[in-house]
Amino acid sequence: MHDAPALNSKPDQSGLICGRLDPADLITAFADIHPCLTPDRADLAAARCYFCHDAPCIAACPTGIDIPGFIRAIATGNLAGAAQRILQANILGGSCARVCPTDILCEGACVRVTQEDKPVAIGALQRVATDHAMAHHAEAGTHPFTRASSSGRRVAIVGAGPAGLACAHALARAGHEAVIYEARDAPGGLNEYGIAAYKLTNDFAAREIDFILAIGGITLRTGQRLGDNLDLTTLRRDYDAVFLGLGQGWARLLELPGDALPGVMNAVDFIAHLRQHGPAATPVGRRVVVIGGGNTAIDAATQAKRLGAELVTIAYRRGRDDMGATPVEQDWALTNGVALRLWATPLAFEGDTAVTGARFACTSRDAHGALMIGADHFTLEADMVLKATGQSVALADADGLAHREGRILIDNITRATSLPGVFAGGDCVAGPDLTVHAVQHGKLAAAAIGRYLEATHG
Ligand code: SF4
Repeated sequence: MHDAPALNSKPDQSGLICGRLDPADLITAFADIHPCLTPDRADLAAARCYFCHDAPCIAACPTGIDIPGFIRAIATGNLAGAAQRILQANILGGSCARVCPTDILCEGACVRVTQEDKPVAIGALQRVATDHAMAHHAEAGTHPFTRASSSGRRVAIVGAGPAGLACAHALARAGHEAVIYEARDAPGGLNEYGIAAYKLTNDFAAREIDFILAIGGITLRTGQRLGDNLDLTTLRRDYDAVFLGLGQGWARLLELPGDALPGVMNAVDFIAHLRQHGPAATPVGRRVVVIGGGNTAIDAATQAKRLGAELVTIAYRRGRDDMGATPVEQDWALTNGVALRLWATPLAFEGDTAVTGARFACTSRDAHGALMIGADHFTLEADMVLKATGQSVALADADGLAHREGRILIDNITRATSLPGVFAGGDCVAGPDLTVHAVQHGKLAAAAIGRYLEATHG
């Protein structure tokens, strides 16, 4: 048994420990769940594509990748050309190939599903092409894109997550200078801190960022937190435009009685600790309750199980169809031995010196579909509770930005906020919150910022 490193600032009197599994078992449990296709398998997968004229898979991709185009390039042995097609639409195409819920996006729309109930393996093929481009970049130092001549314009970007990185890369391509301010010690946002470790292995998120920054014209400054050692007024004064790509680092969760008990923590912090310190140094309980129904809940619960927790239960206040996690993600958790407890909403966390259980009320749906909280209560025993419920962004000191329910208000077409010259995207605005959506937000914002700079500075 190993000492548990602190997972939060609370004095740790809980039963969380590291090393519930042997080191060799942990390595197996956290290995890449979808290794890259071999060349032969990639050829077979590419051969299944019909190269549809009005390809529904393109419309289903939030970044609009030319999917038949890149698959045709793979089929003809042109991996560099395939990667170029992917990356020009989505510069984080490598991580999206690994983390996108393709079952509800491109692969869910593939015409092969209606014929054979099995789509073309678009995500796996995207990984083949982008891995090739990344390997080529690492070996030869090449980058598939070049910068336009300098515009002389400077843009501040707050947040080095997928939205900020995509925005910075698109601005750099257009000849602008981008300076990214990141609150944490390392860039990457959700990809670096918030995705299950077995989805992005071998330091992939960090290598992808090196690849993105290699275009030039992008400066990264870490340890810079808005509302702390950074303020929007100064950024607006010192730069020609600002993009806010604030992610989960600014998120705060609803607090319940018993929230301060050791053993109760945010699922995002648990996942971040695992990503930063590795499975062998991440403490986990014996009985773990995860509260929430989204992909973060699935990632936290499945990883807790793979760390060696005996009983992991996801508690969600509605039914499976209402969960934010896709059916494939839900099945993945169940396959890993995670239990689902549906129609239950948390009331409090119990315990004296550390959490010993989570108390719930049973819920149901009324005739109009509204959630009703019933009088029946029950307690799930737990020495670890991971909260993966809805997040809101802390905007108390957001320097006059219009916001509602913890999200910055923007014009959905221009991505402009209520402040002139300030744009926003990613988790800090309302809407879908996948990595691929954040990339598209950053891309659209960069185009809007380009138009703004043209209009205001000529
Ligand atoms: Fe190929 Fe399927 Fe897209 Fe058609 S829908 S182009 S078969 S991947």
